[in-house]
Amino acid sequence: MIKRTIMPVLDPSIRNTSFSEVAQGYSLNQVKIEASRCLDCKNPRCVTACPVNIDIPRFIKLILEDRFRDAYCTIYSDNILPAVCGRVCPQEKQCEGACVLGVKFEPVAIGALERYLGDYSLEHNVFRQEIIIDNGKKVAIIGSGPAGLACAAQIRRMGYSTDVYEALHEFGGVLKYGIPEFRLPKSIVDTEIDRLKSLGINFYKNVIIGKTLTIEQLFNELNYQAIFIGSGAGLPSSLGIKGENLNGVYYANEFLTRVNLMKANNFPFSATPIKVGETVAVVGGGNVAMDAARTAKRLGAKKVIIIYRRDMESLPARLEEIHHADEEGIDFMLLLNPVEIIGENYEVKSVKCQRMVLGEPDESGRRKPIPIEEYETIDINNLIVAIGQSPNPIIKKSTPNLEVDKWGCIKVNDYQTSIPGVFAGGDIVTGAATVILAMGAGKTAAFNIDKYIKTL
Ligand SMILES: Cc1cc2nc3c(=O)[nH]c(=O)nc-3n(C[C@H](O)[C@H](O)[C@H](O)COP(=O)(O)OP(=O)(O)OC[C@H]3O[C@@H](n4cnc5c(N)ncnc54)[C@H](O)[C@@H]3O)c2cc1C
Ligand code: SF4
Repeated sequence: MIKRTIMPVLDPSIRNTSFSEVAQGYSLNQVKIEASRCLDCKNPRCVTACPVNIDIPRFIKLILEDRFRDAYCTIYSDNILPAVCGRVCPQEKQCEGACVLGVKFEPVAIGALERYLGDYSLEHNVFRQEIIIDNGKKVAIIGSGPAGLACAAQIRRMGYSTDVYEALHEFGGVLKYGIPEFRLPKSIVDTEIDRLKSLGINFYKNVIIGKTLTIEQLFNELNYQAIFIGSGAGLPSSLGIKGENLNGVYYANEFLTRVNLMKANNFPFSATPIKVGETVAVVGGGNVAMDAARTAKRLGAKKVIIIYRRDMESLPARLEEIHHADEEGIDFMLLLNPVEIIGENYEVKSVKCQRMVLGEPDESGRRKPIPIEEYETIDINNLIVAIGQSPNPIIKKSTPNLEVDKWGCIKVNDYQTSIPGVFAGGDIVTGAATVILAMGAGKTAAFNIDKYIKTL
């Protein structure tokens, strides 16, 4: 069996000072070699493990026949953001994790092949032309992240006039304000969104539903027949410990937004500053923590430490991100949990952490961290909190009869909320999850919206 083709990457010593994209993508030759590894299984486990069931063996076969346009369209019919998902999906837990080749050898690099086709379509301006027949009915989409975009695309294809309302001044949700340029170039997200505009979807920025306009106004004044809420989980969780309000403490979402959207890395040529000292600690072990740590390194921090309360095997981030962070010189201090941030003259000076040991598996299936009476104090200049996000309560506050659970996630039954005609999906329903799960939810919700409107 031929070995899995390694994705070319920028040298770690060059890339940790620059925001250029790390993973460089396959060449044509590499893509052909990798595609030739697929066994074209009769019962492809990779397809079942893909949250949107892309016909993976089919698109791989089309690559081998040099039918790149058809291969791209095969993906696009199930996934409107191939260039994005090829870069950011946790493939090792989904399609590649189920690939039969992984039993004895290494799985087919499905994500890298998907990315090649996504990029091919953007470079060659290849995409599926669609004929849409307007049905005279209107749907509003709240939020332009993956859930909102997937719902908008599907609902528009069914003939509805589709308007997307976004609170921020740019479209794309976490794809724009969260995931850094060195992992997902913003031009790619913009081009994918431009394609949706060409379907006739209208996008409105700087509109906060719940403040600028309410759900009630969308129905009664703007005459929408249905509404989809895809407003994500953008509210950071706090550590709840002493010292969290010191200067030099950031929440990862704010830290990343300052760089990704406000271009704080170009300050003073941009309006927003960011202050990064010599030693930065990032608390957390997911993609958000890896992104914050690697961004801090690129902003000039000499030492960046990930502080995580479990062990290396339990880190929830994508394997590739952990590997890249390690290559870029990020240190991992494991089995530690911050209990106090210590300051001097209102500035962060150090963080006191309690040591943990791992006990029996908890509800998440991972071994539960148990504190022991041992402590370690680490000198730092900044601390970035990346321990999770929950939904922003603005929409709920202005919509009292919208039912949410104790974490503020909207309760749904088949994507239908407690208010007739209001549907929801993505992180606002599940809590912080993944791009492809949010897209799957948006797309399925669109079919339910169509069914609902047809009953009116
Ligand atoms: C830093 C970071 C890195 C990540 N890395 C990965 C990764 O590598 N792979 C992966 O699969 N997942 C990753 N994720 C998770 C993934 O990005 C999310 O699960 C996904 O974006 C959720 O999509 P969504 O559409 O539900 O929400 P979002 O992407 O959060 O989009 C919601 C949108 O709604 C807007 N909005 C909110 N409230 C309102 C309102 N009241 N009115 C109008 N608009 C509103 C927001 O501004 C936002 O644009 C990462 C998340 C973060 C934060
Ligand atoms: S499981 Fe692996 S080998 Fe089989 S069809 Fe899917 S990608 Fe190809």
